[in-house]
Amino acid sequence: MDFFGRPSMGRPGGPRGPRGFLTEEEKSNKPKITMALVKRIASYLIPYWKQTLIVLIMIFIAAVLGLMPSILTGRIIDEGLIGRDFSLLVRYIALSFGVVVLSNLIGVVESYTNTWIAQHIAFDMRNRMFAHLQAMSHRFFTSSRQGDIITRMTSDIAGVQMVITNTFTSIIRNVIVLVTALYAMFSMNWLLAIIALVIVPLFSIPTKQVGKSRWKLARQSQECNDEINGILNETLSVSGQLLVKLFTNEKYEYDKYVKANARMVKLNIRESLTGRWFGVAINTFTNIGPMLIYLAGGILIMKFDSSLTVGDISVMVALLGRMYQPINSLMNIQVDLIRSMALFTRIFEYYDMPVDIKNAPDAVIPPYITGNLRFEDVSFYYDEKVPILKGINFTLEEGRSIAIVGPSGAGKSTIINLIPRLYDVTGGRILLDGIDIRKLDLNFLRRNIGIVTQDTYLFNGTIRENLLYARFDATDEELIEACKKANIHDFIMAQPDGYDTVVGNRGLKLSGGEKQRISIARVILKDPAIMIFDEATSSLDSISESLIQDAIEPLIKGRTSIIIAHRLSTIMAVDEILVISGGRVVEQGTHHELVARGGVYTELYETQFRRALDDYEARRAVQ
Ligand code: ATP
Repeated sequence: MDFFGRPSMGRPGGPRGPRGFLTEEEKSNKPKITMALVKRIASYLIPYWKQTLIVLIMIFIAAVLGLMPSILTGRIIDEGLIGRDFSLLVRYIALSFGVVVLSNLIGVVESYTNTWIAQHIAFDMRNRMFAHLQAMSHRFFTSSRQGDIITRMTSDIAGVQMVITNTFTSIIRNVIVLVTALYAMFSMNWLLAIIALVIVPLFSIPTKQVGKSRWKLARQSQECNDEINGILNETLSVSGQLLVKLFTNEKYEYDKYVKANARMVKLNIRESLTGRWFGVAINTFTNIGPMLIYLAGGILIMKFDSSLTVGDISVMVALLGRMYQPINSLMNIQVDLIRSMALFTRIFEYYDMPVDIKNAPDAVIPPYITGNLRFEDVSFYYDEKVPILKGINFTLEEGRSIAIVGPSGAGKSTIINLIPRLYDVTGGRILLDGIDIRKLDLNFLRRNIGIVTQDTYLFNGTIRENLLYARFDATDEELIEACKKANIHDFIMAQPDGYDTVVGNRGLKLSGGEKQRISIARVILKDPAIMIFDEATSSLDSISESLIQDAIEPLIKGRTSIIIAHRLSTIMAVDEILVISGGRVVEQGTHHELVARGGVYTELYETQFRRALDDYEARRAVQ
């Protein structure tokens, strides 16, 4: 709140200093206010120019009307009270009252129109931001902090909304009120008007001094707030709570929280008390002005026999009150303006981020696709200094399956990420049916590729909703058929709500194996030309594993598919194995060919797969 009791402007949710001061973060990110930036911000108002014009007219009318009660005070005193004319007194009072009511009604229309504009601008901005973020590449999401993205979508745009409803209109309103009040004062009596202006510089002394100590406190409470948020984020997240429970550290976490909470309370009390002293100082100065006018007016009337009346002096005092408020607001406006510009710049920064993976201008959509995939001398890096893939060559013919194996970090996931263009190759090319995938329509390409990732993501909804995400028009029969193939139908039917069972936050109510089978069913429903499986490295129990195996094996038979394999049973089911090491294909062939070669694969086989082979064969024997 400022000392007139109105809420002060700032970025909601974000670190913010008190009025009149910028935080260190704000200082270091101070935007350059250029003509281009102002024009760009103004461009958001252009579609709403009619409403903006209404707001401006309303502000002007309200400002002029706002002067009337002050001016009428003089008439009430001189003509009504001193002139002892009761009917005139009542008429002036009624007029004042009428003007106040009218100006308040205009204020309502103004704030309605204003809010309407701000909401619509924020609506446009949010939609545009959402569409832009959806077009951003996978690289953007892996390299940005999720919190940052959400902040720009939510609090930054909410801040912009507030800037339009508060800062911009407050500047215009204050300037108009100040100019009209000054005009009225100078036209009444220029000498008294100058005297009233003399004390204006005194305002800045308490503003700066008290503001500094508030700023210090605000920073401390911001730090304390960050600490509290940190505790909440860590302890109240799913994994955090799990850790707390398993180590029975509830008391420890509670004490830590209470301590930070208590510190926050102390700081808040101190901060609000400083605010109170601040108010006292400002009030003192505000009250000096009227005294000066009474004194100067008295001198003029008594010593210089001026024609000034008591009413005139009262009008000057009333106008003075109207003048101080906008002066005070405008003194702090620079900070508000910088904050507002910073908000816009933060949002524009995101808008201006180039979309690095997009449709080629002459992108093609072939009439049909067989699914022949070819990597031609493909190289790739995430960071220029660290090459990840170095000249990968292989061909996957229609209807055949390939397993990619290799040590951890060899580049297996990277290879499959290149196929749906989550990243673009940095050298060589990938061909689908002989066409460079960068020339194919991006949606067409992605529609034809289905991936079951290691880290299965399910939305918080029902199993049915999660399955339908692959194809919104799929029938119940198709859903059931896909789930039967993925070995998950019986499990779903055993749930009390069947296909309408809610999976919980990120699917946490399901086991890893169940989630993976649902995601297999989801890909079956999509029915892509090429299927890609990133087999989970995490160990599943043998029942879950065999359920998944039994789902995957028939699927890859006769289907163009690639599997990053960690289990021998999968490797045995594919047509060909690619062994990746150090970003290159070091061996290629069937299991028996590779074992006979005695190279990297044999080593992998000895260390990773051998034990699994025994289990696998034992299981097959039982079946
Ligand atoms: P694993 O079997 O453990 O999953 P992998 O063979 O699939 O490993 P990749 O995930 O392809 O290996 O990673 C290959 C290399 O690229 C690793 O060194 C990894 O640290 C690096 N890497 C992976 N993703 C990124 C990324 N988004 N940004 C930068 N480097 C990355």
